[in-house]
Parts: sequence; C-alpha cells; structure tokens
Amino acid sequence: MIVNAVPTVSLNNGVQIPQLGFGTFQIEPADTVAATLAALETGYRHIDTAEMYGNEKEVGQAVRESGLAREDIFVTSKLNNGFHAHDDALKAFDRTLGDLRFDYLDLFLIHWPLPGVGDFVETWKAMEEIYRSGRAKAIGVSNFQPHHLRRLLQETEVVPAVNQIEVHPYLAQDEVRAFDAGHRIATEAWSPIAQGKVLDDPTITGIARRVGRTAAQVTLRWHIQRNDIVFPKSVTRSRVEENFALFDFELTEADMAAITGLDRGERTGPDPDTFNYVP
Ligand code: NDP
Repeated sequence: MIVNAVPTVSLNNGVQIPQLGFGTFQIEPADTVAATLAALETGYRHIDTAEMYGNEKEVGQAVRESGLAREDIFVTSKLNNGFHAHDDALKAFDRTLGDLRFDYLDLFLIHWPLPGVGDFVETWKAMEEIYRSGRAKAIGVSNFQPHHLRRLLQETEVVPAVNQIEVHPYLAQDEVRAFDAGHRIATEAWSPIAQGKVLDDPTITGIARRVGRTAAQVTLRWHIQRNDIVFPKSVTRSRVEENFALFDFELTEADMAAITGLDRGERTGPDPDTFNYVP
C-alpha cells in the first residue's frame, strides 16, 4: 500500500488540495460509509461529494469513523441545482454542513451553471459570502465554460479556485483547461475514466501492456501528468487500491500525446450550455 504519495496542488488562495481523491457519485447512501472508509484506509485524503448525490451524511460519518483528524481530509461538496437564488444558496450550504456534521468545508462548488434557469452571478455572490465567513476554505464552480467564467471574472470579486469539468481521453477539453490555467483556476477532471468507457481502447490497453499497468492506471496517470485533479469512483476495493497506485510510474511524452490524440469531443454527461435540469 502506498500512503502519502499523493502530490498536492496549490489553489489560487494557497489552499492545498490532494491531486488524487475519491469520487462518490452514484454510490448509494447505504454503501457510502464502507466505500469511503475503504478509500481512506487505502490512503485517499480527498473526497468529492455533492448534495445531489444524496450521500453527504454518510461521507461525514465515514470521515468520523476513520479516526483521522478532520483537517487531514479534504472534502468537497456542491450546491444543488434548485438553490441558485442567493438566500437559497446560503441555506443549502448550511444544510450541507449540517448533513456532513462539519464546522467547515474544504471546497464548495456551484454544481452546474444552468444558464437558462437563473443568474449564476447572483449565485456566485452568495458563494463569496460563504467563503468570507470562513466556513468554506475555498469556493469554485463545476461545468462552467469559458464564457460563463468570463462573466464571473468581470462581475464578481473572488476568482473561482477550481472548475470541475468532464475530462477523459475521449473529451480532452484542452480549450477549457487552457482558459482555467490562464486565470489561475485549477481544473478538476470528472468521470476521469469516462465511467469505464475508455478502458477497452486499443491505444490505452497497448500502453498499459507495455508499462505493465492497467488501462485505468494509465488513464489516471495521463490526467496526473496533465496536472489535473482527479477523483475516480469505485465501490470495488481492489479498484480503489488500483486507482491509488499512480505515483511509481510515468508515461512518456509519446504516450501522453497518443492518449490526448484520442479526443473526439465525446461527452458521457450533459452539455453545460444546454443542461438546465432542476430537481
Ligand atoms: P469514473 O470515471 O470515476 O468511473 C466510475 C466507474 O468506473 C464505476 O462504474 C466503477 O465501477 C468503474 N471503475 C472504477 N475504477 C475502475 C478500474 N480500476 N477498473 C475498471 N473499472 C473501474 O466516473 P464518475 O462519473 O463516478 O466520476 C468520478 C467522480 O467525479 C464522481 O464520483 C463525482 O465525484 C465526480 N463527478 C462530478 C460531476 C459534476 O457534474 N461535477 C459529474 C460526474 C462525476 P465500480 O464502482 O462498480 O467498481
């Protein structure tokens, strides 16, 4: 087992985030304590959840049951789509902290921009208040396109610390990543193995065979060498361990280019420009 081998990324306000974490989307509440504990026991110190996933209470419980100090674990949660109005956002954040039973969150994100629903600039102003209260150590966004970010940069004060977007070999997202990097916004790559869809790709399996690693490890290592932050999800302990063993091998520049060359603009999730779903 490799412990403490995960590098940290410095966010634009100096907060340190482990570059590799554990994702909890589509983990049933009943399975969340065991899955999150397995990740913490393996050495993960960064957990990504959301109000939308319905498992914040269980993530908080796992953190407590792990016996680790709260400040040794980086926890992210996200504002759900129905709460974009200013006061609703403040109340939703209180509920998130209450469900996690935490005094503070490490990172709080607007989950989706919902351009057709309300005004995410108003939402961001509520996020800024939360940040200034000290109860979220960093704030950011998810699924924001450069034109959404430009509005925040022009109309508000706090630059988002992260932009969490879908990225994997079939959706390399180099344009959004370059915009983020140019504005000191760290990119987090969600669905980093495209929920398994890239694991049979012959380019990836070929590299995996050559370096003696699995296709998942090669794909996750590609993200790490691109300096993105990743948090693969798995309820399977052997995969949780496999996905953590990324720091004792390296891909060559040619391998990196070959994987990036698989980009075909293929999303597994919704398009942020048209997704306006409110539960
Ligand atoms: P991932 O790309 O992490 O893939 C998860 C799937 O791959 C599961 O079915 C899992 O199966 C399987 N898997 C995991 N590891 C391996 C492995 N080593 N070998 C083979 N199969 C494997 O998808 P997610 O969509 O879960 O993305 C990761 C995280 O990103 C989420 O959990 C969430 O935290 C975040 N996210 C954020 C979104 C946003 O809008 N901000 C949207 C979507 C995700 P099993 O569990 O059965 O082992």
